[in-house]
Amino acid sequence: MNSLETITDSLLNKAIQLRPFVGHTPLYPIKNVGEHSNVDIFAKLEWQQFGSSVKARPAYRIIRDAIQSGKLNSDKSLLDASSGNTGIAYAHIGARLGIPVTLCLPENASEERKQILNALGVELRLTPRGGGTDEAQKIAQQMYEEHPEKYFYADQYSNESNWKAHYDTTGIEILEQTDYEISHFIAGLGTTGTFTGTGKRLKEFDENISLIGLQPDIAMHGLEGWKHLPTAQTPAIYDENMADATWSVSTEDSYEIIKETARKEGLLLSPSSAANLLGALQLADQIDEGTIVTVFPDDGNKYGEVFNQLF
Ligand code: PMP
Repeated sequence: MNSLETITDSLLNKAIQLRPFVGHTPLYPIKNVGEHSNVDIFAKLEWQQFGSSVKARPAYRIIRDAIQSGKLNSDKSLLDASSGNTGIAYAHIGARLGIPVTLCLPENASEERKQILNALGVELRLTPRGGGTDEAQKIAQQMYEEHPEKYFYADQYSNESNWKAHYDTTGIEILEQTDYEISHFIAGLGTTGTFTGTGKRLKEFDENISLIGLQPDIAMHGLEGWKHLPTAQTPAIYDENMADATWSVSTEDSYEIIKETARKEGLLLSPSSAANLLGALQLADQIDEGTIVTVFPDDGNKYGEVFNQLF
């Protein structure tokens, strides 16, 4: 084995050692919000893992696959556009593996997120607030094109490792945790990795499992990590034929769910977790019986500005 192979191999081994800290999240039964006698609602508590969000799964898989294929090593910087959680997950894993991380982040991302990224040693490139994640993506793409020798461009919106992470972990965990008894899966669409990967696994197990995708109802919304797909660029990894239905949810209604869930379930939800629960509750109103599963991508801890408004 030559020396380059030895280095890559040891970096890969270091990455594989992080596997136990990714995924394996509990499935929480929602008991006290909504009244549905023959419908069970469960949510994966995705904040209970490395980096405190669902994004540990794709970030880990993107980094591991890139190391394995020789595209990423500690001489390159991992570059991507992220509204926060993916960036935070890259930052944790990158710091541990000695891989520098550069992120394009809309300047209106919350202060808590910027602080966390700074603490983890990320190089931040703030992009115009009006342009949202589409603009951040364009700038990341440009930076890569100008200096391909300097960066590994992770491109979470087009990277197949993103949805595969959910296909191989989230989807399987949900099947096992529900004893293979699930009728509906409902989740918000950002990069669409969670929906695409989990949905594909569930449909392969049983094509009668219904998949419902959720979107913000307006382009300027408060659901961090979500895309308003009618106006935003559709991620390359999204399979438009997979959803049985796509619904819209409002930020304001989601905020009401944050309050209710805090007081009745003992959970502090982020706006996007609350929006997923709102979708699940609306679905429960429409069906006579079944088992609905959703995900809570992260908790409320990084959303001080929202909590200041609500409580
Ligand atoms: N909610 C939050 C808080 C997120 O960070 C993300 C990821 N951008 C999502 C939802 C959407 O997940 P996905 O990218 O897998 O569609």
